[in-house]
Amino acid sequence: MRTLSELEIEGPPTQRVLVRVDFNVPLHDGAVADDTRIRAALPTLQELRRRGAALVLVSHLGRPKDREPELSLAPVAARLSELLGVEVRLAPGVVGDEVTAAARALEPGDVLLLENVRYEPGETRNDPALAAALAALADAYVNDAFGAAHRAHASTEGVAQRLPHAAGLLLAREVATLSAIVEAPARPLVAVVGGAKVTDKIAVIDRFLEIADAILIGGAMCFPFFAAQGHAVGGSLCEAEGIEPARRALDAAAAATCRLELPSDLVLGDRFAADAQRRELDGVEVPDDWMGLDVGARTAQRYAAEIAAAGTTFWNGPMGAFELAPFAAGTRAVAEAVAAAPGTTVVGGGDSAAALSQFGLADQVTHLSTGGGASLELLEGKRLPGVEALA
Ligand code: ADP
Ligand code: MG
Repeated sequence: MRTLSELEIEGPPTQRVLVRVDFNVPLHDGAVADDTRIRAALPTLQELRRRGAALVLVSHLGRPKDREPELSLAPVAARLSELLGVEVRLAPGVVGDEVTAAARALEPGDVLLLENVRYEPGETRNDPALAAALAALADAYVNDAFGAAHRAHASTEGVAQRLPHAAGLLLAREVATLSAIVEAPARPLVAVVGGAKVTDKIAVIDRFLEIADAILIGGAMCFPFFAAQGHAVGGSLCEAEGIEPARRALDAAAAATCRLELPSDLVLGDRFAADAQRRELDGVEVPDDWMGLDVGARTAQRYAAEIAAAGTTFWNGPMGAFELAPFAAGTRAVAEAVAAAPGTTVVGGGDSAAALSQFGLADQVTHLSTGGGASLELLEGKRLPGVEALA
């Protein structure tokens, strides 16, 4: 990957840099509800402005089917202006004559934000015409959108082929940190994997079975494992398509040096709600009419001890329905253990990141990945098209 410092952008004439950022942020009442991703891009933007470049920023937001005004980047432009302390102008579209004129008028340090790149249907098709039109707006390209790097889109892959390019500071740090986990981890290497569906994460579980010392399973995804072992799961969220992959992972674990750990106690609710009836279960045989909504206290303690002793911990996916206060304790215990661990700690996944923030611990981990899907694909050993294009 070409680095930012290798990119020649010093003028005169003023060099315009097209920067792919990940401003796919949650909105609420027409304003940015969580600006974590915007803040994460600031070091790259500040560095480029310090070197005298003019910036043309490009990002997607949500999945517009059309030019839906609710998915305009206008609220992002407003928030970014505040954070950068400079006016960020929003272009009237993604490409076109008016956008070209706005880009041409930029002076050193100026910032222009293009509209939601997915307003253009060519974006997800990696349309060469859109990639060429984006490339024509600038003299160089920087990709800092790690969260979109697993997609070969016009703004992540196509455009990189057409301009001198480099990785942004955030993307470079994401790739370096996540690659280090699989290539040269401080041991023991412990993966804590939870969340809703085992099929989302089975590839990364399979990979960690080869390289990790222990995998600790939590969240609803423990139920396909329990079903595969013949336990009753009651009314728990148990993905049917996950049972076969879970069975295969259990078989693989029996032959591997890596331990695959499952919960040994659970917290049950009578339904998925904050005011549900709650009971603790010493064991994992879930009665009918009850659902497992969190790991139990003994399991949480066991997992916390593993995390405390780990050289490296990778955590993806909450241990339970942490959005509901009565079922948040297991996720909180893991989050606190990760925050306090002396080893390297890396957290990926949108909901895991949200849990860390909810507990006020987001700044106490070594690395909080901004890319859920991209971080999993990198750990699985897949090639990320947006990263490959920066070679
Ligand atoms: P991440 O975004 O960190 O990758 P996921 O999206 O895979 O995590 O999973 C998060 C979701 O899983 C949360 O909404 C949480 O409520 C849900 N979840 C976790 N455990 C359970 C459970 N036992 N029953 C129902 N839902 C659960
Ligand atoms: Mg999620």
